[in-house]
Amino acid sequence: MAAPSVANATDLRTDFALLIGGELVGSERSLDVINPATATVFARCPAASQAQLDRAVTSARGASGAWSRLSFEERAAAIKRMAGVLRANQDALAELLTREQGKPVSQSRDEIGRAASQSEGMAAIAIPVEKLMEDAERRIELHYRPLGVVGIITPWNAPINLAAGPLVSALYTGNTVILKPSPYTPLCTLKLGELLRDVFPPGVINIVAGGDDLGQWMTEHPGIDKISFTGSVATGKQVMASAAGTLKRVTLELGGNDAAIVLDDVDPKAVAPRLFFAAFVNSGQVCMAIKRIYAHERIYAALCEALVEEARKARIGDGLDPQTQYGPIQNRMQYERVRGILEDTKRSGARILAGGELPDRPGYFFPPTIVADVDENSRLVREEQFGPIVPVLKFSDIDDVIRRANDTRYGLAGSVWSHDPERGAAIAARLEVGTAWVNQHRATSATVPFGGAKESGIGRTYSVLGLKENMEPQVISVLKQPM
Ligand code: NAD
Repeated sequence: MAAPSVANATDLRTDFALLIGGELVGSERSLDVINPATATVFARCPAASQAQLDRAVTSARGASGAWSRLSFEERAAAIKRMAGVLRANQDALAELLTREQGKPVSQSRDEIGRAASQSEGMAAIAIPVEKLMEDAERRIELHYRPLGVVGIITPWNAPINLAAGPLVSALYTGNTVILKPSPYTPLCTLKLGELLRDVFPPGVINIVAGGDDLGQWMTEHPGIDKISFTGSVATGKQVMASAAGTLKRVTLELGGNDAAIVLDDVDPKAVAPRLFFAAFVNSGQVCMAIKRIYAHERIYAALCEALVEEARKARIGDGLDPQTQYGPIQNRMQYERVRGILEDTKRSGARILAGGELPDRPGYFFPPTIVADVDENSRLVREEQFGPIVPVLKFSDIDDVIRRANDTRYGLAGSVWSHDPERGAAIAARLEVGTAWVNQHRATSATVPFGGAKESGIGRTYSVLGLKENMEPQVISVLKQPM
């Protein structure tokens, strides 16, 4: 595949700026942004220097005192205004998100709408002072204080939704923020900064685009108190090692290799569309997508057939086309990685039931690919493919399938599918994951904690648990004895 061409000067979008200390600023460095549906550079945006990061940290620290002294209600009011701004700009942001990320524009709209509603949901959660004990002599309370400045680093698969969760958690709990999007998808996040400039006081939210080096500078920076990182396991480990230098708090939302266990009592035709969507939405580039399907031998053939039928109906194309259901892979590096997994899979003698042939057209298109009779030790089963290729594996014994589902360093989520939801729930409880669903996959909400077991992460986002990760518990212990 040839190197991406650059749109001519009149078509190249350059209307992007960093947000530092309440000001929209450019930079001497820049990032080229590629539309994955055409493999052409369509935009160029500023990339922050180390000096600009320092300025962002100084302004975030400067804004921290006044912001932390506001009440939860006052900060919630600002977050509600942010949700309103997201909704008011949903169409324009969605189009830009599709151009830089590739997903169908209807799903880009959903992502922005979801970011708005999750933000409101989180900003309605109470974090009261907890009374640990009180008697005639003493009172001991547990308070929660903001940490200070939170650095947020996001990946390229859902830039707005994955920014909104940590952003709102940090802001609502009284912290100020430096937010860095992925160099592959910086544009919507920068536009968000422009839109939020008048919603929050200067310095409360700073947005700096840049490469991986900028992320590393953030993790090392002595003026940042916590890193909320969403990305791959490998980078998450680097973030944690680097944050240890200043003993920063970390929340790590990392990769997954979610298993879906389909029991012998399901109707394969009813379950297949749901499994298919949860595996292939955003072309499989979802941390909590279904990445392995384990089907009972009694329904294995019928389920494979029903999944192939879903693949046959799937409409693949440029996300800007309203007919498109599945867009391209977001970037060339990931496309080549998934292609490598496909080639290994073919060489291993597994059966490609659907997809598996890459179209000869510009863009990083890869059709939904379903593979049967896969070796349990293949890359497709062991690694997080993070792309539109999914293995369907056979099982006959429940203990055996639970062992196989758990035989991984990942532990983000998983699901069990059954005609009998309580039978499913008993099996789901045996999965070594942060979230185990029954007869659904990928269901999250503002009030339910989400995060990974094992190497899929540390800590939780959303819910009161996620909010408290942005706060330091503080004991106030009073001896009621006048001195
Ligand atoms: P990535 O780890 O390559 O990059 C994520 C971010 O980290 C980017 O902004 C990048 O610039 C930055 N970065 C890179 N090196 C860094 C360093 N040394 N220090 C600090 N920051 C650095 O991940 P990706 O390829 O953008 O995203 C895909 C991965 O994200 C997948 O593994 C996916 O499962 C995971 N993910 C997890 C969740 C979750 O909630 N658990 C959600 C979405 C995606």
